[in-house]
Formats: sequence, C-alpha cells, structure tokens
Amino acid sequence: MSQNASAAPANTPQAPIAVEGFDSLYQMAVSQFARAADSMGLDKDLRLMLSQPKNEIIVNFPVRMDNGSYQLLKGYRIQHNNILGCYKGGIRYHPQVHLDEVKALAAWMTWKCSLSGLPFGGGKGGIQIDPTKYSQTELERITRRFTHALGTNIGPDFDIPAPDVGTNSQTMVWMMDTYINTFGAAHKNVSRHVVTGKPVSAGGSEGRDEATGRGTVYTIAAWAQEKKFALDKATFVVQGFGNVGSFAAKILAGEYGSKLLAAQDHTGTIHNAKGIDVEALFKYCAEKKGIAGFPGAEAIAKDDLWKVKCDILIPAALEAQVTSKNAPTIVASGVKVVAEGANGPTTPAADKIFVDAGVDMIPDILCNSGGVIVSYFEWTQNKQGDGWYLDEVRAKLKRRITNAYDRATANREKFKTDGRNAAMITAIQRVAHAYKERGIFP
Ligand code: GLU
Repeated sequence: MSQNASAAPANTPQAPIAVEGFDSLYQMAVSQFARAADSMGLDKDLRLMLSQPKNEIIVNFPVRMDNGSYQLLKGYRIQHNNILGCYKGGIRYHPQVHLDEVKALAAWMTWKCSLSGLPFGGGKGGIQIDPTKYSQTELERITRRFTHALGTNIGPDFDIPAPDVGTNSQTMVWMMDTYINTFGAAHKNVSRHVVTGKPVSAGGSEGRDEATGRGTVYTIAAWAQEKKFALDKATFVVQGFGNVGSFAAKILAGEYGSKLLAAQDHTGTIHNAKGIDVEALFKYCAEKKGIAGFPGAEAIAKDDLWKVKCDILIPAALEAQVTSKNAPTIVASGVKVVAEGANGPTTPAADKIFVDAGVDMIPDILCNSGGVIVSYFEWTQNKQGDGWYLDEVRAKLKRRITNAYDRATANREKFKTDGRNAAMITAIQRVAHAYKERGIFP
C-alpha cells in the first residue's frame, strides 16, 4: 500500500515560499533579469513582455492508488517564452513544487536555451508530490494521467518536457507512450520527440543521462583554462548526488583528476580529507539510493559541508541553498569558483558576497545547460531518424557549451560585470534581437 494513500491530499495549493529578500523564487528570478536588463539598457516594452510567462497551465487530475483509494493531484506546466522556438524544459516531482517555483524554473529555461543558441524557449512543469512515497505502478498512473490532462498543451513541435528533480527516463517514456497513444497513434514513431531524456531504446540520445553533469564539468574546464588553474590538483565539494551531482563528480574526478572531499544528499553529508573514491560512491549510491553510510568517508553535520576547504563548490541540489548565511563560510573555506549544477541555488545576497570576495561564479543557465543541449540533440536525432555515437554527442556538447562560456565571458569584459549578469545579458540579447526582428503581433 502506498504510504501516501491515507495521507492528506497532496494537491493543497502552496503559498509562495519566500527566498532571502524576495516573496518567492519567481521574484528572485525576476530580480536577476531586471539587473541584467538595467546593465544592457533593455527596451522598456521588452522588459514588460518578458516579466511574466506566456502561459500558466494548472491541471487537477485524479489518480487511483494501489490500495484502491484516489488522490486528486495538481500539476503545472509553465510556458515562459517561445520567440526562439518550442517551449522546452523539465518536469519536476517534489514536495516543494508550486506555481512560483515552476515560473522561476521556466524563466531560467528561456535564458538557458537562448544562451546555448538552441532553437527553444523556456518551459517547466511539475507535480507537488514526494515520488519516493509512491510505488512504481502509482508513479506510472500519475505520469500518464498528468500527460493526458496536459493534452495538446505539450507536443513534439510545441512544448517538449524532459526529466528534472524526481523524474527520469522512465517518467519520460511513460509520457511519450501516453502522448502517442492519445494524440499521435497514426504517427507513433514521428512523435517520439514530444519528450526528451528518454531511454536510448525508446529514441533517447546516447549521453543524455550524463549530459548535465558533463556540461557542468566542461564549463569548469573552460573556467580553469581561462584562469590557468590546474584541475588535476584541484579539490571540490558537491551538494546533491542525484543525476547532476553524481555525474559531475564522476567526470571531474575520473577525467580531470580533481579530488572530491565532501558530498551531501538528502540522506546525509560525508567527508574524507584524503579524497573520496567517486566511482565507489557512485556505485554505492545507485544501490543504496543515497550516500549515507558510505564506508570510504566519515559522516559530518549538514552545515559543516560549507566549511570544507576546497577550490570548487558545485551546488547541484535545489534552489536557494547558498544564502547570505553560508556564503561567508564558503568564502572563508577558500572556494575559488561556484559552479551551479542546480537551478537557482544561490540567492542574490550570496551572489554579492561572492562578487565582493572575488569568488567566481559559473551561473546555472550556463553551468547546467548540458542537459537541455543534449535534449536538443535527442530532438534533432528523432526528427531525422538518426542515432549519434556517444563520442559525437560529447564532442558537440563540449563545443556548444564552451562557445556559450566564451560569449558570456566576452560580455563579462564588455559590461565589466560578474559571471551571472554577463550570462544573463548574453541570453537576453538573443531574445531581444528576435523580438526586434519579428515585431509584436498584430
Ligand atoms: N530539467 C533540465 C534543466 O533544468 C533539462 C531540461 C531539458 O532537457 O529540457 O535544464
């Protein structure tokens, strides 16, 4: 029986969650946009148009639990902007999911896709559930009913979901199958690109599973090259050991020779001053569904993660993890660069502390764009009926994300600003240019 079956309905609308200095995460995202808009002198009409998402879709749908009872769930899909192409972005299953969070995440997708030069705009969706409290059969029914409820609000050439926190390739293949059986039966195989992040056997791309973590490492490598910093002598700490954090750690340690000193996930925080065997941790975590109890490290208190002396900090968990409370500790621990594997992990107050202390920032819209970049590769492969080799995917990812890094760096110098603002300016410039060319209908 599902643990949630008898619990209070999980569809209670949640009030926006305040984030250091802001009423909601969306206000935080808007403030990042406004700062970049000020720096670049963005046209006031464009500022207005880009201040809200185009569409906010909320669906309520019933799902039968394994014990025969029903839950009424609330699902979101926010379509932020599509001037550059189809809406694109993940689907999140997490207890914190709420409208303002999804709006922020959708806005960041617009900037992320623009910065990477993709023919996509921003979207994001989610359901406010804790997926660990549901059985596989319940998750399948939840996903299929949600997809059905979204109906033609998603589509292979309109709005293309992908995995995010709490969802994975299995979730995507259920979405694809439901969409195809509902709307695309006559075109089964030409509609597979309604979602990306599918298993390879269902039309997914080689290298999509590792893509966000790999992209994070490629941006760290670009930073290291710019700063003439030797990654084989570097130490790092990762917060979050899910898809992004685990692959980033594995690749940074395994391919670049950096040393992982500490890691944290929802099960615990571990530390080893001599370095953690990342391959062993990766296997342990896959088996135990968490890093707690890993024999090759010691357990430490949650907040002590920020005290670990290291060169590179990779927040790869949830939003607003790095605030004015722990940023001074992070500065004191000697961190040289914060590489945002997660979306929105750093508040503007913490950003300012880093800028003042000379700590570099590889912002989320650049640092974690590897996922959506390889999603784009998957989408084009599906459209062409093609299947690229892993080495091709990796090479194309490296080229595209390094190019985005270089363009953002050029704007950092041109506008004499910090890493986040420069990346935002670069992203907004492309969207603004597209609006100027097309004009506003009618
Ligand atoms: N959820 C991921 C992100 O936040 C990937 C989105 C995608 O592949 O469309 O970037």
